[in-house]
Amino acid sequence: MPSHVVIGGGITGLAACWYLAKAGHRPLLIEKEKRLGGVIRTDQVEGCLIEGGPDSFLSSKPAAMELIRELGLESDVIGSNDRQRVTFIVKRRRLVPMPDGLMLMVPTRILPMVKSPLFSWSTKIKMGLEYFRSPMADPPERSVAQMVREHYGQEAVDYLAEPLLAGVYGGDPELLSADAVLESFAGMEKKYGSLTKGTLAMRAERLKQGPAGPLFRTLKGGMEQLTQAITCQLPGKMDRYQDEALAIRKSSFGYEVELKKERLYAENVFVCCPAAPAASLLRPLDEKMSELLAGVEYNSTVTLALGYEQADVAGKIDGFGFLVPKVERKRMAACTFVKTKFDHRVPPAKAVLRCFLGGAAIDVPDGELIKDVTAELKELLGLTAMPRFSKVTRWRRAMAQYGLGHRKRVAEIRELEARHTGFYLAGNAYDGIGIPDCIRGAKNAVAAMRAK
Ligand SMILES: Cc1cc2nc3c(=O)[nH]c(=O)nc-3n(C[C@H](O)[C@H](O)[C@H](O)COP(=O)(O)OP(=O)(O)OC[C@H]3O[C@@H](n4cnc5c(N)ncnc54)[C@H](O)[C@@H]3O)c2cc1C
Repeated sequence: MPSHVVIGGGITGLAACWYLAKAGHRPLLIEKEKRLGGVIRTDQVEGCLIEGGPDSFLSSKPAAMELIRELGLESDVIGSNDRQRVTFIVKRRRLVPMPDGLMLMVPTRILPMVKSPLFSWSTKIKMGLEYFRSPMADPPERSVAQMVREHYGQEAVDYLAEPLLAGVYGGDPELLSADAVLESFAGMEKKYGSLTKGTLAMRAERLKQGPAGPLFRTLKGGMEQLTQAITCQLPGKMDRYQDEALAIRKSSFGYEVELKKERLYAENVFVCCPAAPAASLLRPLDEKMSELLAGVEYNSTVTLALGYEQADVAGKIDGFGFLVPKVERKRMAACTFVKTKFDHRVPPAKAVLRCFLGGAAIDVPDGELIKDVTAELKELLGLTAMPRFSKVTRWRRAMAQYGLGHRKRVAEIRELEARHTGFYLAGNAYDGIGIPDCIRGAKNAVAAMRAK
């Protein structure tokens, strides 16, 4: 009988296995797919490294770097080429650079804002006056759009908050909870009133700790190098079944885990899959917890990588790429110029554009997506050459959406989780969807088990 079962072999489940093995246990990993890594997927096409899922992680959250160091991969970590970090926003079918000094959606420098054609004068004045807002004693929970609108106006929602969050969450700022996805902003409102003032204070504090380095990091071999390193270093310390977990019940041994092909018994169970399968697994164990989990929404997303000859795109692309706000959107929500953002991705004679197509593209045939996107690239960049290769990756219900009430929902889930000895939840449904958040969640779950 295995004493530790981990369900879900994405980065969360793999990190849980890693920390369990480190603590001297031999976990059994249940993953329904043949491939491990979940949405982390790196392919090689014509010598180009193509990320089907995440392409990097935020350097400001330490959990990913800590794990990378433990795996001995530190020398393979590369940063984004921040000297070339310009991101464009599509406005009236033209690419307008995001003004310097924007931190996420908060303007921190006056002159670049004043000069930018991205915003009207009334928005620029509202942005300037925001600095003088008074602290709010107890700010209510609002959607991201409500909060940004209150501080900077509707244009800042349309041309900053929406496209930025569409890129990260594949979500709608009118529905996402500011408390859950912009956690630090609520604290700034309380302390400073102004988000600009709060962001400047936070930046000054960070600068005291020395230069931060590039904002995004990745691995030379792509993000899959991380999940592969975990699986390569765990043989003999972990077992694996390729099977789908269907239900978890209490048993005299701890828990009974019903799989499609067999039943297992374990003292400790770590559920590391997205909220929807977790909800269905847990129904026999705890109906209330299952209901709460089922309420965490997920959006689908599609990435389309297009490979070109460098000569075809020369002079047409610049910076890290562009974002297309919903008010301007056709098929594409964002496009990354892979070669500019990171080295070690694309040979000198080639170029790759990685396009993000929202959930509406999930069932559209490849040919139609490629036709729509190439037409849009012609319109926006003047790119007339046809791609030499394309790679479509579809992720159905993969991006967790933290809606209004998310924090309260998670607190209730955590309270119920604590009532089941030896039962732990981790993954992107709870306290952050980024790779470092998922790793931190897995590490905390193993630490909670060890503390008992
Ligand atoms: C297109 C895309 C781009 C992203 N970009 C970034 C980025 O640049 N940076 C960043 O930090 N984050 C990014 N994210 C978010 C981040 O990658 C994910 O939140 C994170 O990788 C999720 O890991 P996970 O292990 O929790 O879940 P998943 O990767 O979804 O893995 C869950 C695993 O559980 C398995 N499973 C599900 N149900 C069962 C069952 N019943 N039995 C057995 N197995 C089951 C699934 O097959 C899957 O392998 C992106 C996400 C997507 C989709």
